Amino acid sequence: MAGLWYTEKQTDNFGITMKIKQTLHVEQTDFQLLEMAETEEWGNMLFLDGMVMTSERDEFVYHEMVAHVPLFTHPDPKKVLVVGGGDGGVIREVLKHPQVEKAVLVDIDGKVIEYSKKYLPSIAGKLEDPRVDVRVGDGFMHIAESENEYDVIMVDSTEPVGPAVNLFTKGFYAGISKALKEDGLFVAQSDNPWFKADLIRQVLKDVREIFPVTRMYTANIPTYPSGLWCFTLGSKKHDPLEVKEERFHEIDTKYYTSELHRAAFVLPKFVRDLAEGE
Ligand code: SAM
Repeated sequence: MAGLWYTEKQTDNFGITMKIKQTLHVEQTDFQLLEMAETEEWGNMLFLDGMVMTSERDEFVYHEMVAHVPLFTHPDPKKVLVVGGGDGGVIREVLKHPQVEKAVLVDIDGKVIEYSKKYLPSIAGKLEDPRVDVRVGDGFMHIAESENEYDVIMVDSTEPVGPAVNLFTKGFYAGISKALKEDGLFVAQSDNPWFKADLIRQVLKDVREIFPVTRMYTANIPTYPSGLWCFTLGSKKHDPLEVKEERFHEIDTKYYTSELHRAAFVLPKFVRDLAEGE
């Protein structure tokens, strides 16, 4: 693919395109087409089934926002679960919180973990940390088998196609509620409001029916279609908007700040309407 342009098609008429410097690895795994490439603009990138998963240059936005918003919302997150996330970026951020004693990662595809360690070492480099328990398996099944176990769960999944379809169902959110301790909370990546409005409406509706505190926040991620990315937070008790200033401790970040923790929940009107089911 060297010198060619790679396009992730979002619709038949729109996609997001980057120039490839060299192809690093291509493999049809048991679950998805895995492609790793070096790009001119964004460094090494991981694609699954033709969709951008992460890039070395902008990965920090997504990984920081998936990890730090829920971890600063929970007053004492000791045990954490990442569903998906085989590139290791969310785990790297989770480990910046000293209260976290154990972080379990369950990704269905061991090849994502293997090739992320090889070609995305700045992202995957903390997967060997002693606080981390990496398991290869279906996150849906892991959730179904867990009860009253986790303080915080982060769903860092692919889009709702292939192995991730079940991770966008009401049954999965009910399982998450059961897997969480009594004051637990979770976050899930929820795609973009420009092209996936129906999905976002459905996710918010389902989560709201299960969790007393349901909120949506956004982040700017240039390599994801439309650049505006949504995250859904469901919580049994703690509200991300009521975190006291003294709870924020200093961590090394490039996107997340305590100001942004609050600001990210201020939604553009058309996104707020979606979140409210309109
Ligand atoms: N940040 C990316 C995004 O939003 O496009 C997603 C990151 S990628 C690491 C997502 C991971 O979810 C993939 O490694 C994939 O193997 C994993 N995954 C998909 N379905 C899964 C399932 N049912 N259980 C566990 N992991 C799953």
